[in-house]
Amino acid sequence: MTEFRFESWASDGNARRGRLHTAHGTIETPAFMPVGTAATVKAMRPESVAETGAEILLANTYHLMLRPGPERVERLGGLHKMMNWPKPILTDSGGYQVMSLASLRKLEEEGVTFRSHLDGSEHKLTPERSIGIQHALDSTITMCLDECTPFPATHEAAEISMALSMRWAERCRSAFVKRPGYGLFGIVQGSVYPDLRQTSCEALQKIGFDGYAIGGLAVGEGQQMMFDTLDITVPHLPADRPRYLMGVGKPADLVGGVKRGVDMFDCVLPTRSGRTAQAFTRRGTVNLRNARHQDDPRPLDIDCTCPACRDYSRAYLHHLIRAEEILGLMLLTWHNLHYYQELMAGLRRSIETGTLEQFEQDFARQQSDGDIASLTGAAMAEEETE
Ligand SMILES: [Zn+2]
Repeated sequence: MTEFRFESWASDGNARRGRLHTAHGTIETPAFMPVGTAATVKAMRPESVAETGAEILLANTYHLMLRPGPERVERLGGLHKMMNWPKPILTDSGGYQVMSLASLRKLEEEGVTFRSHLDGSEHKLTPERSIGIQHALDSTITMCLDECTPFPATHEAAEISMALSMRWAERCRSAFVKRPGYGLFGIVQGSVYPDLRQTSCEALQKIGFDGYAIGGLAVGEGQQMMFDTLDITVPHLPADRPRYLMGVGKPADLVGGVKRGVDMFDCVLPTRSGRTAQAFTRRGTVNLRNARHQDDPRPLDIDCTCPACRDYSRAYLHHLIRAEEILGLMLLTWHNLHYYQELMAGLRRSIETGTLEQFEQDFARQQSDGDIASLTGAAMAEEETE
């Protein structure tokens, strides 16, 4: 029986190399978790997601509670079995999407009442219900229900919001049914205010969690403020538990987050961008919709070993995108997930060898170099259309 446990054996500055042991397998950290919103990483078979190197997926409680419903997922043997992904799964609490997708929301001490964006039906999400749903889903890592404090927020508003999240965190801890190899993460809030972040870190540790997430970032505050907030938050988190930066981010955000001691990330960016013709490469972003690729027989990235780069030309990828062929979305999603996992593997190696600073410099230089010159001599600036 595997206990839920985090170990770390190497560090470089504040960055650390670690491994998370769970009931569904181990996760090498720092790790990036692809988002499988509705129990599927869009346009990818789970086997293919695993081939990119991903060891853990994120699924969304809000979407799954509305459709197909947690009790149905439970009857089907849980998320792992239903979606044929035996590896670890982290589920969010549902709170973030209730606030961003549902209508007629009413936030109270007890929980949040809302109407489904699918059919208008009324639902109530409380800390206890959120934990119960995640249990039914058989989530390896359960997240506490919290209120993601909007940005910007006054100190007073951020304090009231954070305090509510801390009271909910306590109720989540009580409702969580402990099972070997399963974990519950608390979520630090407090907007960009150092005193509130510290209070939140301390309140959560008093309750005691298997991991600590940093919430309320990547909500419009910008990269520098996000990094600054990490700098004043991470030192207040325990060294023997994983740290998870929620909803982040772009490749440069991951590099900066790892440097500041974050172990886990999730973001829809690689998958969503894959569906809008945007590819992340070591030479920055490339828009495959751009006409400069239409006669280009070269691969998207000659050094990338993903199927999109290994087996196809830029011209073909461009054609698939223009013709709105499903294969185009599949290949670009695969490439983006592969690139993100390669980036994380590179970060892990650089922490082990104490070369993170060099890695960061090389990364920044390659990104700013931009894409390879077009065969037709079209300006590289065209790539910037996002
Ligand atoms: Zn590729």
